[in-house]
Amino acid sequence: MTRMLIVGPPGAGKGTQASRITATYGIPDISTGDIFRENIKNETPLGVQVKNIVDAGDYVPDSLTNELITNRLMEDDARNGFLLDGYPRTPEQVHYLDALLQSNDQKLDAVIQLVADQDEIVSRLTKRAQEQGRADDSEEAIRHRQQVYLRETSPLVDVYRDRGLLVEVDGLGNVDEVAERIKSALSARGIMPVAERDESVA
Ligand code: ADP
Repeated sequence: MTRMLIVGPPGAGKGTQASRITATYGIPDISTGDIFRENIKNETPLGVQVKNIVDAGDYVPDSLTNELITNRLMEDDARNGFLLDGYPRTPEQVHYLDALLQSNDQKLDAVIQLVADQDEIVSRLTKRAQEQGRADDSEEAIRHRQQVYLRETSPLVDVYRDRGLLVEVDGLGNVDEVAERIKSALSARGIMPVAERDESVA
């Protein structure tokens, strides 16, 4: 049972590492960005409501995001752990998540922070824009998302550091290298991959 967050600036490689972590630790990767994009694509009422906000690189109102997470965490696959990717992103969301977990008698085991430098990030995102054509990957939107992250979300890292939950990992290098760094940093905290767990003590 592992409950974790992954945080880092847009383009730090969260999504890629999140799917690795999912496989290694047997927990679902819950990405608010993916959920919003899926809703936008399918033109659901939520999607219609948030499309312009997401395309501009601004944050969706906390009330909508908190409700979405509440519903998602009630699903069966999240009962035995999860990796939240892209949530919480504001102080209100941090408080909301604290209360939600507390009411379920749950707590976080770790917060993985992917650290990456600004130039590398912009070049990665520009590449992704060419490959995937995400509407929020225009150069202007990328720059805007970086600023929003620095202003709104990076202060949250301090909150989790103060709680002793932060696991800082260098996000530079290839996917396997970074995945390996995450794995050893988590193992050092006693958070083991599914394949290496001793089921007799579980
Ligand atoms: P990024 O690569 O910018 O980190 P994400 O896929 O995590 O992208 O999120 C894309 C967009 O979805 C954000 O720019 C924002 O509009 C919206 N979004 C995702 N998560 C949240 C959240 N926790 N609170 C508010 N808005 C969010």
